[in-house]
Amino acid sequence: MTHLLLSRVAEHVWWRWSSGSKRAGSLDCRRSPARPPGRWLREDDDVQIENALLRAQEAASPEVGRGRLADYIPSLAAVDPRQFGMAIASCDGQVHVIGDADVRFSMQSISKVFTLALVIAAEGERIWERVSREPSGNPFNSLLQLDQEAGRPRNPFINAGALVVTDRLHSLTGNAFGALRDLMRRESGRADVGSDPEVARSELEAGHRTWALAHLLASYGNLECPVSQVINQYVEQCALSMTCRELALAGLFLARDGVLSDATSLLSARQTKRINAVMLTCGTYDSAGEFAYRVGLPAKSGVGGGILAVIPDRGVVSVWSPALGPSGSSAAGLAALDAFTTYSDWTVF
Ligand code: GLN
Repeated sequence: MTHLLLSRVAEHVWWRWSSGSKRAGSLDCRRSPARPPGRWLREDDDVQIENALLRAQEAASPEVGRGRLADYIPSLAAVDPRQFGMAIASCDGQVHVIGDADVRFSMQSISKVFTLALVIAAEGERIWERVSREPSGNPFNSLLQLDQEAGRPRNPFINAGALVVTDRLHSLTGNAFGALRDLMRRESGRADVGSDPEVARSELEAGHRTWALAHLLASYGNLECPVSQVINQYVEQCALSMTCRELALAGLFLARDGVLSDATSLLSARQTKRINAVMLTCGTYDSAGEFAYRVGLPAKSGVGGGILAVIPDRGVVSVWSPALGPSGSSAAGLAALDAFTTYSDWTVF
């Protein structure tokens, strides 16, 4: 097993040096244009990461395509479930990838981390007056819990909480989705990052629970903007389409104490620490405990099959495989991250 892995790594290293192009399923490591100050990779880090990526892909492969697609959003049900990609961006902006890491997929709930970061960047901690920060222990689209708790969502990463965050971002900026898209474009270095109109339309038409949650929030006085405006912004943000490589670069500020690719700060170190803490306890819905047990990293998943995980001061990992486990996170993504933190020292514990 170890022998097989080492020979695959050796074969890959030989291949990468002897050819300039990329082939399917192979590792690839390029430097991003933005190289802010931060911890730089050593040569042995490179080998360790590539080794761990191969292990992660191997561990994920029995799970790829197993599970359900998010068929309550019809256009997500049309995605080929047999895809798998993973990217690691280290704090210096260096990216390693494997598999389908350059295929765009739907961010869905992963976008919620970025809208929260933008709101906290704009006005500090005020959002906690309207949203709690406790794990929900309930499905991410639960109506019951929101009603029982008088319209105060358990956390910003379930749908109800994210609607409140988007509502606030829209009040603050006049264009919540635009603010999010600009951030993602700047940090990924890709000006063509945007929302997939088909996914947005699909959720707008079929997202009955989202409409119900927004109306419930409004009935408790916990929305500032009209329901339809909040929903429109929310579905656009969820329909944001990015690759694993782009997402890893966009999320790097979470590993860099809030420092963006141009070396300015979006968040303070303390604010960044707190967002990561909420990701650890609430980022994977009602399976946050199991996720912490197996992976042990702050992370946010989405029903498009992506997961973004943060290793403070080291970098971020993004993984994508569309088929979902019971609580709505990618089954293969979970297996890959479990293996990644087992076979590398990129962990927080
Ligand atoms: N847009 C999806 C929804 O509102 C996001 C859910 C998710 O990724 N968990 O249902």
